[in-house]
Amino acid sequence: MQTLRASKCGLSTSQLPSSILDVIDSLTKAGYEAYIVGGGVRDLMLGLNPKDFDAVTNATPSQVKEVFGRRCRIIGRRFELAHVYSGRELIEVATFRAPPKKAVTSAQGMILRDNNWGTIEQDFARRDFSINAMYYQPRKGIVLDFCHAVDDIKSKTLRLLGDPALRFEEDPVRMLRTLRFAAKLNFNIDPAILDVFTPEMTQLLRDVSPHRLYDESQKLFTMGHLHRIMPMLIEFGVWRQLFADIPQKITKFIELAAKNTDQRIQIGKTINPAFFYAVLLWETFLERVDFYTSKGVVPTEARAQAGLDVLKRQATRTIIPRFAETFVREVWEMQSRLLNPKPQQIEALSGHARFRAGFDFMLLREKSGDTSSNGMGSWWEAYQNMTTDEKERAISAYNRQRAKGRRKAQDEVAPDSKVSNQIEPLVKETESRTRRSRRTQTQRVENSKVMMTSTNDAMTISPDHPILKRKRVKRDLNQVVFGPTQ
Ligand code: ATP
Ligand code: MG
Repeated sequence: MQTLRASKCGLSTSQLPSSILDVIDSLTKAGYEAYIVGGGVRDLMLGLNPKDFDAVTNATPSQVKEVFGRRCRIIGRRFELAHVYSGRELIEVATFRAPPKKAVTSAQGMILRDNNWGTIEQDFARRDFSINAMYYQPRKGIVLDFCHAVDDIKSKTLRLLGDPALRFEEDPVRMLRTLRFAAKLNFNIDPAILDVFTPEMTQLLRDVSPHRLYDESQKLFTMGHLHRIMPMLIEFGVWRQLFADIPQKITKFIELAAKNTDQRIQIGKTINPAFFYAVLLWETFLERVDFYTSKGVVPTEARAQAGLDVLKRQATRTIIPRFAETFVREVWEMQSRLLNPKPQQIEALSGHARFRAGFDFMLLREKSGDTSSNGMGSWWEAYQNMTTDEKERAISAYNRQRAKGRRKAQDEVAPDSKVSNQIEPLVKETESRTRRSRRTQTQRVENSKVMMTSTNDAMTISPDHPILKRKRVKRDLNQVVFGPTQ
């Protein structure tokens, strides 16, 4: 172990927010050791702006709770941690960890339960990469470096601590972390890692909980280098573990969406990571819609069911939270609304909560050469920049064109075309968990008749499934809840 002068590593307390200093100082004052560790130290040394700062201490979570009282909450099962609120910020405070005493591991060697407190040396050995395992004590102005991590920072090398194969088996998420840090920091991956990072090894990701994989996928989508990491995910076989049914290649649409996401992050704009899920699963969704329509299901119903099917299958890999699921389905449904809007609804549609995302999505489709949106993406783009008079003229012109098209295809006219100028919700609210659990057995049996097997081609739907019997219903507009959905 070498003790380095923080100033020699380019570190100074002036770079640190008061929240992390407050946590370090309070723990030190209470007689405990406390350090900043992980990405915060690494990023500062690399001249990057750290996302956050994590603290580590020899105080156990309950001792941390004693120090901070109501400002502290203990969280986690596999990893018990303290969350300390300092001002408006939240600092994660971990306790030095020892190797698990009794190995609580899965059949594949994955660590399942892990709360043995230990020394700083033991804590170090359990961290993933050398560059993530430097301990910075800002008040003493020192950095503890147990493995010449500083050299790896200088040579831009991503090196796992210990035997790479063992470290991947212990926690397969480290494979994702390898690619994420290599892409984010533009580091070279140590050849010892490359040797074991095989497609067989990536199979271990199947044992990771879909919740954890969702969290990790979010980090991949939002790190600002999505465009750089996607080819790596494919090359290393991680892509197919994360996304069950999507093509194993980067389409123009996906590539543009990734670039667009990175650009938004670089200029500090917010992004909704569910948007990228909508992009990734779009083709699969369209195939599934075709499947239902070819069975005679009416288009609205086909889209609704296809959306549910595709997201349900994806959830076997990465769970998709309810809000994200609704968002994705709304963005997809918006594609039909924007393609063929009823003229009376155009203005209301442009103020819909999901308009912006739906419109961005359509524009990206067009930019990637998709002509099936009939140029409506550009139409909406122009529409948004018009004055009220220009908008009226644009709607009349659109209406005339639409009428012409409608005369040509009379049979496509919906029987309920007496339209209101308000719009229906894009997707039906999914049932609440309690209501769902109270669902009758009959419903469950009916639903189970829609079967999805492992390949798209083999997806079957029984001829007496209610979806095939459902006719387009005439809606009583008084009964429909209008307005934007959240
Ligand atoms: P960033 O926050 O920029 O994504 P980070 O390195 O801080 O990067 P975190 O997920 O915040 O990553 O984890 C904090 C630290 O905890 C890491 O730097 C590493 O030392 C340790 N760590 C996190 N995940 C693992 C893991 N799966 N295996 C071993 N150590 C880990
Ligand atoms: Mg971090």
